[in-house]
Order: sequence, then structure tokens, then C-alpha cells
Amino acid sequence: MKKLYYIDYPQEHLENQMHRYQCVYCKVETTVINGKLEGHLPSCQYRIKLETAGYEPALITSGEIPVSHDADDFD
Ligand SMILES: [Zn+2]
Repeated sequence: MKKLYYIDYPQEHLENQMHRYQCVYCKVETTVINGKLEGHLPSCQYRIKLETAGYEPALITSGEIPVSHDADDFD
């Protein structure tokens, strides 16, 4: 089971930083986590919970769409 982005973790403001957020559990900034499960610390409750549930850290491929070339010949 994989999800492309892991963004449903509880977040909180950085102290005195109104426009910056961090994970409630591991305190890693959201811009560092960047939607990736492995962006959280290995000790992060959120990460542990998802890994226990069977999710794996997924490599984010930016907009990669598998292109299939069917052998349709235009003769
Ligand atoms: Zn975390």
C-alpha cells in the first residue's frame, strides 16, 4: 500500500512563525517533510503509525506518467 503524498498528519505552527508549520510529533517542518513519509523522523508517531499500517515510504516521482506505446501501425 502506498500513497503519493502524506499530508494528513497533525501540524502546528512554528513558534512565532505564522506561515510555517511543523509536524506535531517529530517537529520537522512541513517544507522539509514535503509530503513524504520518510520526511518524518523514524521516531515520529505518525510515521510509525502508517508504517505499522503497511504503508511504505514512497519515492515521489514528479508527474511521471507511464507512456504506453501500443503497436498500432498506421499503414
Ligand atoms: Zn512527523
